[in-house]
Amino acid sequence: LRGLMMDAPLLVTSILRHAALYHADTEIVSRTVEGPIHRTTYGEAWVRVQKLAHALAGLGLKPGDRVGTLAWNGYRHLELYYGVGGSGMVCHTINPRLFPEQIAYIINHADDAVLFTDLTFVPLLEGIAPEIAGVKAIVVMTDAEHMPASSLPNLLCYETLLEGQPESFDWPELDENTACGLCYTSGTTGNPKGVMYSHRSAVLHGLASSLPDVFNLSSRDCVLPVVPMFHVNAWGVPYSAPLNGCKLVFPGAKLDGASLYELFESEGVTNTAGVPTVWLALLNWLDANRKKPTTLRKVAIGGSACPPVMIQRFRELGVEVLHAWGMTETSPLGLANTPKKKHDGQSADDSLALASKQGRPIFGVQFRVVDGAGNDVPRDGKAFGRMMVRGPWVCGGYYGLADSAAHASLPGWFETGDVVTMDADGYVQIVDRTKDVIKSGGEWISSIDLENIAVAHPAVQEAAAVARPDEKWGERPVLVVVLKPGQPLTAQELAAFYEGKVAKWCIPDDIRFVESLPHTATGKLLKTAIRDMVLHPQPA
Ligand code: ADP
Repeated sequence: LRGLMMDAPLLVTSILRHAALYHADTEIVSRTVEGPIHRTTYGEAWVRVQKLAHALAGLGLKPGDRVGTLAWNGYRHLELYYGVGGSGMVCHTINPRLFPEQIAYIINHADDAVLFTDLTFVPLLEGIAPEIAGVKAIVVMTDAEHMPASSLPNLLCYETLLEGQPESFDWPELDENTACGLCYTSGTTGNPKGVMYSHRSAVLHGLASSLPDVFNLSSRDCVLPVVPMFHVNAWGVPYSAPLNGCKLVFPGAKLDGASLYELFESEGVTNTAGVPTVWLALLNWLDANRKKPTTLRKVAIGGSACPPVMIQRFRELGVEVLHAWGMTETSPLGLANTPKKKHDGQSADDSLALASKQGRPIFGVQFRVVDGAGNDVPRDGKAFGRMMVRGPWVCGGYYGLADSAAHASLPGWFETGDVVTMDADGYVQIVDRTKDVIKSGGEWISSIDLENIAVAHPAVQEAAAVARPDEKWGERPVLVVVLKPGQPLTAQELAAFYEGKVAKWCIPDDIRFVESLPHTATGKLLKTAIRDMVLHPQPA
């Protein structure tokens, strides 16, 4: 027997339409690449998105076409999310921090018909122009006045395209499983792979990520996503913020501590989100300048493990940290860490230990933690295994690749590549990524644990732990450390700092100091390059 409810498809357009109808005067504030702060509203954005949809049709684009973006977080990028997706096309957000060859590979693999770019990335595109000959036009996201002189053929201006377009668009009635977005994994191993989001997955993820135990968003909030709109859709904020009528603040290209703090304070930001690397810079800037955020309440941190010392530093500033876990393949949110009622009255140490875990499953994503034979390991917070997920916003197959994303021996489940423990309440702790764990004498050493301890030392700025082959033990940990300026520390002193914090045999016996550590295009420690540094040190 079928239910008798309306068959209303879940489409992203419905999110911005809702915001425009009921939060018409709620602001969208952007720091522009051109310089000034730009202010608009959901009401105005909805009109411009409809003009954009007309402009896209005018470019000859058809449903299903891929439209690439190389852009910072800003209002025009938001318009593209909705104008492109709503037209039944695919908004392909490209990470401009990838190597030019990777960017060309991704553009060609996605077969992007048209690219939209911020002024910043015009030189980058000029450099790869011969490799991306299939792209029919490049639209610079600026006005006529700021159009650059460029060797690029078919260069168009965003504002000129929108000029004079009708203010209302007859949106196609799409099936909710129609693709609306495309994001490639950063490809630290092999070529990047395309994850194709649907309207349905984007709306469901937007709803789920708004829940009180996740981002806890309301129309009273002001959200500034530091996480880029090219890094898994800025963790869904471009959908969840308008869905809840939150004020949105886009930081543009300036992600340094001073610029972020200025926007936090001038716009009254309450919620923000980003990877640990950006918070490290912000916290150091706040310390050095003796500043404290006055409106910020909550910072969501994920993408790589948030060190306990970072949670502690934010707590001292009166800011709550929401540690969360996700992947490009999971839209991204799967785990979010908020305490339960029973944790009220926990000691500060216990509370910090709990908050340092990656969180509990969000309704909508199912989790399994399995051993080598595919059997579930006990949910005791100690036994570890490989984490598998499935759900309506988990990737089922990669774009243009014949094989599905599901794990061969566990059909229907996606292998995250993370080794974890889960406790009876569902709190997951990531021990390590399968490829980063250090296997010493048949035991596993968590590189995350070693790094978290190192950065808790007051003289340490950043640290990475990687494996080095060892004849006797199989592998041994090497700790590569960046010190804070003017803070001397010896390897012996740092090794002594580990005593009592981990088992003796886990303490790194090879500690090296470097000027800086390499990062991936999404701001994570680039373990492949760090292993390379360790195995093939450059002569001084
Ligand atoms: P890529 O590694 O290609 O950049 P993603 O950005 O999708 O791809 O990264 C997903 C991975 O990031 C996860 O599998 C996990 O290893 C790691 N990760 C994400 N959030 C956390 C977290 N809070 N703690 C530890 N690791 C995390």
